[in-house]
Amino acid sequence: MSDCLFCRIVAGEIPAEPVYQDEDVLAFRDINPQAPLHVLVVPRRHIATLNDLTPDDAGVVGTMHLAAARIAAEHGLAEAGYRTVFNCNEQAGQTVFHLHLHVLGGRALGWPPG
Ligand code: 5GP
Repeated sequence: MSDCLFCRIVAGEIPAEPVYQDEDVLAFRDINPQAPLHVLVVPRRHIATLNDLTPDDAGVVGTMHLAAARIAAEHGLAEAGYRTVFNCNEQAGQTVFHLHLHVLGGRALGWPPG
């Protein structure tokens, strides 16, 4: 989708700082980090929200989580801990409607989230 911000990042039309990529997903640093590590893992293919997943997307969602764990480990956070978050729609605070998994770590994270 040409009007989707994260599709444009995947296409290389908008710069981002990549930390991981494979044939199905791209991970890049959040432009407004909420923790020392704040990375977004996105599918290369446009999927708007969690609600739009189909059983055919199970593989890419698994790949997104494997990428998150790998990125956390590469940043030395496997033992200390980190958080992964999908925001879905307005009340959860989703602002970019291209599925993305937040990977946050490097500080103590409060719970429950606001
Ligand atoms: P959401 O609120 O939809 O769950 O998360 C969207 C995230 O995308 C936010 O954390 C926001 O800072 C990040 N973001 C918005 N625009 C850009 C951008 O142009 N580049 C990058 N790298 N991150 C962005």
